[in-house]
Amino acid sequence: MATANSRANCSICNKANATCFCAGCSKGFCFQHLTEHQQILRRQLDEIINDHNQFQQKVIQQKQNPHNSSLIQQINQWEKNSIHEIQQTAQQCRETVMKLTQKTINDVQQKFVELSQTLKEIREENEFNEIDLNNFQSKLTQITEEFLQPSNISIRQDSQEFINKISIISSFEEIQTKENKYQQFGITVAGGNGQGAGLNQLNGPDGIYIDDDKSIYIADSWNDRIVKWN
Ligand SMILES: [Zn+2]
Ligand SMILES: [Zn+2]
Repeated sequence: MATANSRANCSICNKANATCFCAGCSKGFCFQHLTEHQQILRRQLDEIINDHNQFQQKVIQQKQNPHNSSLIQQINQWEKNSIHEIQQTAQQCRETVMKLTQKTINDVQQKFVELSQTLKEIREENEFNEIDLNNFQSKLTQITEEFLQPSNISIRQDSQEFINKISIISSFEEIQTKENKYQQFGITVAGGNGQGAGLNQLNGPDGIYIDDDKSIYIADSWNDRIVKWN
């Protein structure tokens, strides 16, 4: 005759010998496996303590070395990339200028050779007057000027930023701005490069309009134009 067993099964060995019930996982354990279960729980607690300590260590390190934060590293990366972009652009421009300068020098040399030839001829023929002399003088001046200050090469500066400027957005700042209502200092959003007709300058600005995309249109009255600043 089989006796009815009133004990619950141990969740590990599956024998009907569970002496304890764990309220945390709602499982029954025999005496031996209860110890094992407790050891597992203890190990898990140790892992959490370990993670906690590591995190605490990170916080201390961050506080001691604030320049190591991931945001600072992002800024460093932006700085590096921007400098690289500027250097690359400068290098491309230098190479173009050098090529064009070489071409200008060749042109000047060609013109100079022609002028020398004419001078030589006229000297041998020994027939020239003031008109010829003036003519030669102005040609020589023209060639010299072209050589010293080539009119067909110049540098253009875009008014648009070619590097995307970064700034820091913080909820701390928002709170502060609300309290202050306005920040203490204004910033220049257009102009700032003196009076003039360059694309980075204004002359008698007389009206302003701001687009949805934050472009600023300025009536540049003395230059008779409307300029767009980004
Ligand atoms: Zn349990
Ligand atoms: Zn068991």
